[in-house]
Amino acid sequence: MKELRERIIETAKAHGADLVGFAPADRFDRADAIFKIFPQTKTVIGLAFRVLRGIYRGIEEGSTYYQYTTMAVENMEETIMPMAQLRVAMMMEAEGFLALPQKRHQQIMSEENSTNPEVAYDAIYRGREAEVQMDFLDAAVKCGLGERGLYNVLLTEEFGPMVRYCFLLTDAELSSSEMAAPHLCDHCGACVKACPGHAIDEEGHVDPWQCAVYYNGANGTKNPFMPPDALAGMEDRLKIIAGEARVTPETAKNILDKLYFYPPAQHAYQCSICGRACDRACYAHLEEKGLLTKKFRTPFRKREEWSFAVEDFR
Ligand code: SF4
Ligand code: SF4
Repeated sequence: MKELRERIIETAKAHGADLVGFAPADRFDRADAIFKIFPQTKTVIGLAFRVLRGIYRGIEEGSTYYQYTTMAVENMEETIMPMAQLRVAMMMEAEGFLALPQKRHQQIMSEENSTNPEVAYDAIYRGREAEVQMDFLDAAVKCGLGERGLYNVLLTEEFGPMVRYCFLLTDAELSSSEMAAPHLCDHCGACVKACPGHAIDEEGHVDPWQCAVYYNGANGTKNPFMPPDALAGMEDRLKIIAGEARVTPETAKNILDKLYFYPPAQHAYQCSICGRACDRACYAHLEEKGLLTKKFRTPFRKREEWSFAVEDFR
């Protein structure tokens, strides 16, 4: 019989995972949420799934937008990733081990007064259960899936930031993966510059409310669906449309209530109008430097980025 570790990798890959990594429990502090969720955790198994590069093309070209949200967010999170997690967990249970799938719950926030741009702010639950979500990025790095990039993003050697990821906590002791030696993020700042709402500061901190407003399309120069009279009557209207306004949680909610440019996906995921410009800029930079191991025949970024004039909204 094949080693369990090898069978986990095979099963995960047969169900869509591209990268599989293993972190021993001793890479985590005893106070870590993984031990609140499952105190007997011996190994954390990380699964990363590429987001197809072609799915970003519509937003990169400014032509079609729904593919990113439906195929790269909704279907990945609600179909592909859970299927791989469940198949691995079923196989491990058949072998007599426990394996707890851990998928990010988009509507549970661990920080008070924060938000998640991928869902509506008023759908977010901030309660007692919030404290038991594991730190997904930290676990991904500990599983050896990639390194932490400037804006708290997972950068993989194969696909750069174009991945989504999830985990299983198990009581099986499995040999560990090496953690990646950071070599991708060179602090070039392309992610900071690319955000249409200046949501990322120079240190890489992402303001979640600023991100939510611009993820949802408040920058009219990067939004083909915004009508010329959008946000009528709002203070700082043109500054908001130009991506130059700073928001607070209160002003962000006010703006978000007025943004509806494109229907949400069926599982209530907000439509991404920014199209993760931060990830696309980072990917283009890493590809240009020849650092990504998954190669394509043509470059991702084919021309200067397009934009409309803020004058069109006067
Ligand atoms: S765009 Fe540059 S600074 Fe930002 S995460 Fe990527 S490599 Fe790092
Ligand atoms: S580019 Fe989009 S996803 Fe990235 S920080 Fe800006 S608004 Fe958020």
